[in-house]
Amino acid sequence: MNSSTATMHQTLRHYFGYEQFRPLQQEVIDDVMAGTDTFVLMPTGGGKSLCYQIPALLLPGLTVVVSPLIALMKDQVDGLTTAGVPATFINSTLDIAEADRRKEQVRSGQIKLLYVAPERLVLGDFLRLMKSVTLSLVAIDEAHCISEWGHDFRVEYRRLALLREQFPTVPIIALTATANDRVQQDIIQQLQLRDAKLHRAGFNRPNLSYAVKQKTTGLRPLFEIVERHRGESGIIYCGSRSRTEKLTDHLRERGYRALPYHAGLDRETRTRNQEAFDRDDVEIICATIAFGMGIDKSNVRYIIHYDLPKNIMGYYQETGRAGRDGLPSECVLFYGQGDRAKQMRFIEEKPDPNDRAVAIEQLNQMVGYAEATQCRRALLLHHFSDDYTATNCGNCDNCLSTNPLETVDVTRQAQMLMSCVIRVQERFGTSHVVDVLRGSNAAKILNYRHNLLPTYGIGEATSKSEWMWLARAMVTAGYLSQDATSFNVLRTTELGRQVLRDRQTITLQRQRQESPRKQERERSINRTMGDLPENNVELFQRLRGLRKRIADDEHVPAYIVFGDNTLIGMATRLPRTLEEMRMVSGVGEMKTKRYGAAFLQAIAEFLGEQPSIQTVERQIPDFVPPELSESAIATWYAYRKGMQMEALAAARQISQSTLLGHLESLVAHGKIDSIEEIVPPEKIEPIRAAFRRNGLAALRPVMDDLPAGFATWDELRIVRADHYRRKHSTSREAAKV
Ligand code: ADP
Ligand code: ZN
Repeated sequence: MNSSTATMHQTLRHYFGYEQFRPLQQEVIDDVMAGTDTFVLMPTGGGKSLCYQIPALLLPGLTVVVSPLIALMKDQVDGLTTAGVPATFINSTLDIAEADRRKEQVRSGQIKLLYVAPERLVLGDFLRLMKSVTLSLVAIDEAHCISEWGHDFRVEYRRLALLREQFPTVPIIALTATANDRVQQDIIQQLQLRDAKLHRAGFNRPNLSYAVKQKTTGLRPLFEIVERHRGESGIIYCGSRSRTEKLTDHLRERGYRALPYHAGLDRETRTRNQEAFDRDDVEIICATIAFGMGIDKSNVRYIIHYDLPKNIMGYYQETGRAGRDGLPSECVLFYGQGDRAKQMRFIEEKPDPNDRAVAIEQLNQMVGYAEATQCRRALLLHHFSDDYTATNCGNCDNCLSTNPLETVDVTRQAQMLMSCVIRVQERFGTSHVVDVLRGSNAAKILNYRHNLLPTYGIGEATSKSEWMWLARAMVTAGYLSQDATSFNVLRTTELGRQVLRDRQTITLQRQRQESPRKQERERSINRTMGDLPENNVELFQRLRGLRKRIADDEHVPAYIVFGDNTLIGMATRLPRTLEEMRMVSGVGEMKTKRYGAAFLQAIAEFLGEQPSIQTVERQIPDFVPPELSESAIATWYAYRKGMQMEALAAARQISQSTLLGHLESLVAHGKIDSIEEIVPPEKIEPIRAAFRRNGLAALRPVMDDLPAGFATWDELRIVRADHYRRKHSTSREAAKV
């Protein structure tokens, strides 16, 4: 390990109590330390903050952090000071005297990290303050706010362009969780970043599960989810203010602590409700989408969307608020037949036809997600042009479903539908066509004299929702098209006409009705604590109680004291000394001093009452190997035939890096037993030893730990996959005994 890497790790350990960097963190920090401008695109919960906090601690001068979320600044700074980091914020919530006092602290060099809102940063007074000290770094959080193309544009951000002019030599790091290529370009250009190094993390969040549930008239399916998470934090998004209020009432009647949050509440109430949620005083927030920009809570265990969101980007961002601590969390969307029509009504009120067309397209994508029969994760990630390739994510309802699809013969109905579309001269939308088929007496039908068409009423025996499904499925399958720019008019495609003409059989795939076994599977989706022995869960609950008391005393959110995963770490490793306590992930030096004794005592008391409690080896996986895709299996066949590496890539027409990904997954999943044909045998043991010393999470520390030039990145990957398989197969075998 070289000396600068060692210092970074030491800082990570000392202040934050973490053993390893998350993917990309170290690479970003390296660049920042070298004085390069950097652009970081990482999903929510990916660990963006450390990318500038660690440099801030290591660089000589001050780091200024621009953040639009005034409501969050205090919590962010509290979190840092609790960990012993000299940080403060200056914003409009402070009176002048307090702001002056803090400026003085900055001037005298007592502060390493200063948080500030964008509108304040550009004031002459503030610029003078920045010039009076050594400014080492400027971090721009939520950087997408600078772009008009982003979904969160803020005018104040535009003026940040002057940073480069005023401080030409100070490196800038811009961070965001949402940016398509256009927004990305815009950010780089607006901030005048120079040769910015781009770090883009995969957007996959393996710890989040995704599911879509049928909306029913009653609320039972919703309560089932909430009940599974009793005592844990969750957010329920609704489409309207009144719905959030009603739902809050229902939840309270059932003994949950819930509060509403929407734009109709005054600011004070909103802040109060959000704080109550942050501090675990209430477990559930029922919110319209206005809620969220200000959520930093790491232990949100579930996100429910009770109404259809407007677009997939927004949906993914909202679900991203679950499980920032990396623990399993679930995202459920409720979807009903009426949802699409309801949103269409809003859309039709938009005056600008362009806006309408965009909104309709986004809605169609959302409906496509809700009705999808393939992997939901893959579908979401493709919207971020994430090159996610696994065919089974193992953590969404479709992938977990054993026989989700059935092929149905819809020939007769499909013929009726297409004929009817043609009969109304391809000038009407789905619901009108369905009304004709079902013989409705609606005024619109009679006005157009569509009751005289030969197709009028021929589909009476089939339900309206069934017809609606068929129409959408036929659009997806390419037999019909829907014109988003012109009232969603249905047309028959060339393919459709041909099939109709030739009287071909038409089959479609559809989801089988839910089986009772699904419930079991759902339980297995939710396994935050599920696999822990009862005693340890009880201890965890007790530690949460202690955390809550401490947090209340200090007027900070509970997660600022310790995150859930840290408490789980304590409840499973059962530390008896401060030394052992320090080994738990998330327990840094400062927190050991401040809280260590109290938690040790609580654990000791529990051990006294329950001497039978045992330590549990339970770690959040630090490395998840790539999934076995069909393509990887094809590579495996070729490999078994004894094909050499270069030939293999050529024969399979894949790139070296894809091939490597395949080999990695084949090794990790035990398809390839011996890696000696892939990695020179004499290198294997030294690399393995380096992984044992540094953990599996990141390759960089392992590379640094080995003699220079000893191994290639590819070799590290393969050895890691092998190491992973050994660890996992032995624990499986041990479990069998
Ligand atoms: P983001 O800003 O990208 O949404 P945060 O910086 O808030 O994410 O980090 C999310 C969570 O992950 C926080 O609870 C943080 O403490 C934790 N975290 C960050 N880096 C690490 C790490 N290297 N090891 C363990 N936990 C980490
Ligand atoms: Zn999936």
